[in-house]
Amino acid sequence: PRTYLVTGAASGIGRATADHLRALGHAVIGADIQGADIQGTGSEGAAIEGGGISADLATAEGRTQLVAQARKLTDGRLDAVIACAGIAHFDPRTVRVNHFGAVATLEGLRPLLAAGTAPRALVIGSVDAVHPTDEATVEAALAGDEEAAVAAAQAAVDRGEGHLAYASSKAAVSRWVRRAAVTADWAGAGIPLNAVGPGVIRTPMTQPLLDDPEMRPVVEQAVPMPLSGPAAPKELAPLVAWLTSPENTLVTGQIVFADGGADAVLRGERT
Ligand code: NAD
Repeated sequence: PRTYLVTGAASGIGRATADHLRALGHAVIGADIQGADIQGTGSEGAAIEGGGISADLATAEGRTQLVAQARKLTDGRLDAVIACAGIAHFDPRTVRVNHFGAVATLEGLRPLLAAGTAPRALVIGSVDAVHPTDEATVEAALAGDEEAAVAAAQAAVDRGEGHLAYASSKAAVSRWVRRAAVTADWAGAGIPLNAVGPGVIRTPMTQPLLDDPEMRPVVEQAVPMPLSGPAAPKELAPLVAWLTSPENTLVTGQIVFADGGADAVLRGERT
C-alpha cells in the first residue's frame, strides 16, 4: 500500500479520489479547510492520528500547517500528492486557492515525495483553462507574485470580469505544471507531475448551476461534453489513481483532459 495526501478531500472530486484510493488498499491523508468533514482513515479503516489535516490553503499559515502536519503524520515520507482543493468564486481568493494553494501544496510536500517510493504528483486543473483568461493574473501567478496576481484578479472583478478568475487560476496552474515538471526538482528527482483537466463534474461546486434551468444551458454551452454530459466525480478517480501510481513512468508535464470531449469541441484540432 502507498501513502497518498489528497487536498480538498472532504468533498466532490477530492473525496471520490480518496475513497477510490482507500478501496485499492492505500492509506490516504485527507486535507481540507477547517471544519470540513475529513475522513482521516488509513488502508484498513485505521484512523490516522489527528483525523486528517485542517488547513486553509488560501493562506501562508495554512500552507505551512499542511506541510508540518503531513510531516508529523507520515514521518516525512509520502508516495503521492493530489492537489484537489479549489473554489470557483468570482473573486481573487480563487487565484489564492487554485493556483498558489496548489503550487504550495506540491512544492511544500516535494521533499516528502522525494523520500517516498515511486513518488507521483498531480493537480486537478480544469478544461476551463482553455477559456479566456486575464493574462495579467496568469503572468503574475507564474512569476510567483501572489499579491500582484490577486491585484490583477481584483482589477478584473472591478471592470466586471470576475468570472475570469477561475479560468485564469486554472490556466496558471496548468502552465506551472508544464514548466515545473521538466525541471531538476521534478523530472530530475524522478517525480512525474501532471494535471487532470475535468469537464463539468457533478459536485457541490457545480450542482447548483446544473439544477438551475437558466444556468444549465449556459454551463453546457461553455463546456460541451458530447460523450458523457456532466459526469460523476468517481469517473475521474481511476485516471487520477493511475497517473499517481508506480505504473506511470512516462507521462509527465501533461494536462490530461477528462472532459467528455469538451477540449476537442472548444479547441478543435489544436493540440
Ligand atoms: P467541491 O467544492 O466539492 O470540493 C472542493 C474542496 O476543496 C472542498 O472540500 C473545500 O472545502 C476544499 N477547499 C476549498 N477551499 C479550500 C482552502 N482554502 N483550503 C483547503 N481546502 C479548500 O468541488 P469539486 O468540484 O470537487 O472541486 C475539486 C477540484 O476540481 C477543484 O480544484 C475544482 O476547481 C476542480 N474542478 C471541478 C470541476 C467540476 O465541474 N466540479 C471541473 C473542473 C475542475
